[in-house]
Amino acid sequence: MSNRWDGCIKLHENCGGLVRWVEAVHTPGVGYFGECIGCGESDLVVEEIVPVEVPDGERIAEFKERAGGIGRDAVSWDDESDWDANQERLQEQIA
Ligand SMILES: [Zn+2]
Repeated sequence: MSNRWDGCIKLHENCGGLVRWVEAVHTPGVGYFGECIGCGESDLVVEEIVPVEVPDGERIAEFKERAGGIGRDAVSWDDESDWDANQERLQEQIA
């Protein structure tokens, strides 16, 4: 969980569900896992979570609601692109 994720919503890759952090109380050395509200999968690691920055002037609740409608195929992180390019693509899909 880097600071870069601050101000981001989190989506489950290839699922599209919203992810929340859950304290990993049973796993020494691990601070938090992701838990997908959409499919219920837990123990998600950062590689399975797609962060999307909430654009300036956008309300986080509304952005989350719209993000729920973009479809599972759209929720992916392109490792070939950098952070900004990924953000641009994902934000466009949600907009
Ligand atoms: Zn999911």
